[in-house]
Amino acid sequence: MNLRHTLSVTVATLGCSLLLSGCENMSTDDMISTGLAGFDAATISDEEIQAMSAQACEQMDAESAIATPGSEYAQRLQRIADNLGHQIDGIPVSYKVYMTNDINAWAMANGCVRVYSGLMDMMTDNEIEGVLGHELGHVALGHSKKAMQTAYATSIARDAMAASGNGAVAALSSSQLGDLSEKFINAQFSQSQESDADNFSFDLLTDRGIPREGLLTGFEKFADMDGGESSLMSSHPGSKDRADNIRERLANG
Ligand SMILES: [Zn+2]
Repeated sequence: MNLRHTLSVTVATLGCSLLLSGCENMSTDDMISTGLAGFDAATISDEEIQAMSAQACEQMDAESAIATPGSEYAQRLQRIADNLGHQIDGIPVSYKVYMTNDINAWAMANGCVRVYSGLMDMMTDNEIEGVLGHELGHVALGHSKKAMQTAYATSIARDAMAASGNGAVAALSSSQLGDLSEKFINAQFSQSQESDADNFSFDLLTDRGIPREGLLTGFEKFADMDGGESSLMSSHPGSKDRADNIRERLANG
């Protein structure tokens, strides 16, 4: 938070305590311009993030072509999911394949893990295990929660919830949830979050008795590709260092 933002929040808060009725009459635009809605984004609760993630996931599923149960893609992901496990940190994990040529995979804080068929086409099962272990790391380490918080802070969902006055996640429309989901999926993780998620995946694969080599070769494949828009691919600039880290860990047994 920069100084100017802090200042505008303070002014808005003062304005509210001095003149409460005026505050209630503020339009959403007024709240945004004074920074009040931004203040709300910083204090959103874990429960709200979980509820928001569940709804954003539902919205993404409704907008996507999901591999039908029993299809080759669904069966393949089922095998991978059985190896990785169906819960992370006590959160039940739901795995699904979206049928699209895009190369992506992501995980929301409520355990919603989605893999695109374009990514499955270019990777071995073991490489997908490495990638999904990494995504589960983002959930377990709280990165997915933070990313949703950031997405909320910049989405139209925030304005809707601020306007409703009671943090009504349930009242969000499909277009508000769609905007929120898109911002979440395109959110960028920091290099240290990416490295931590890589190490989480390495340890998870080790615990599950899954070969760890796929984590390395999977990221080597990303390193050979263009960056693209998604959060998965935007980690591309650091992929050489990340591959080196996994190579070193493999060498150390
Ligand atoms: Zn990542």
